[in-house]
Amino acid sequence: MNNLTGIFREKKLKLTPQRIAVYKFLKSTKEHPSAETIYKALQPEYPTMSLATVYKALKTLVEVDLVQEINVGEGNFRYDGTVEPHPHVQCLNCGKVDDIEGITFSDLNDKVKSYTSYDIVDSKIYFYGVCSCCKNNTTPH
Ligand SMILES: [Zn+2]
Ligand SMILES: [Zn+2]
Repeated sequence: MNNLTGIFREKKLKLTPQRIAVYKFLKSTKEHPSAETIYKALQPEYPTMSLATVYKALKTLVEVDLVQEINVGEGNFRYDGTVEPHPHVQCLNCGKVDDIEGITFSDLNDKVKSYTSYDIVDSKIYFYGVCSCCKNNTTPH
């Protein structure tokens, strides 16, 4: 964890134990957990932290761009400690979300400019498929 205090100070965020816990957890995983998953994972270490607190900490962290919120549809959100733009792939069977590494679509915003009068500021790339676990698991659900 490089200089969390510095990062938070730069964002003018108060260093609360809850925010630190949520942020550290997201930085330590590539699983793109939901708020509920984060809540459950932090329970043993932070038994007094409520799910509402986790949501609040996530909201703050998303607002200051320390955490990326991923809309996986049906009102479900996943969270990602990597805020640099990167494409995601979601399993249509089990709902798991992974990063796709080694490829960027950084020229996409430029490419799309000639097709719209909007000033493009951001884009998100999602792919959908079947993960290797689901592919190899032939037992019906
Ligand atoms: Zn799957
Ligand atoms: Zn990601």
